[in-house]
Amino acid sequence: MTEKTCLNCGRSSDQAPLMTLDFRGETYYLCPQCLPVMIHKPQNLVGKLPGAETLIPANHDH
Ligand SMILES: [Zn+2]
Repeated sequence: MTEKTCLNCGRSSDQAPLMTLDFRGETYYLCPQCLPVMIHKPQNLVGKLPGAETLIPANHDH
C-alpha cells in the first residue's frame, strides 16, 4: 500500500492535505479534520493506529 491516506478517515492526499506523523518508527498520515480526534479522542484511534493506547491519558483519581 503506497497511497498516503489519513489513518482515521482514509482520505487520500488528493482529497485533503495530509500531515505526516512519525510514531514509533513508522510513518502515518492524518488530515487536519482528524487532528482533533487524535488530541481529544485518541481512544478512537485504537485499532487504526498501532500503539494508540499510549496516547490515551491515564485515568488519575484525584
Ligand atoms: Zn482524516
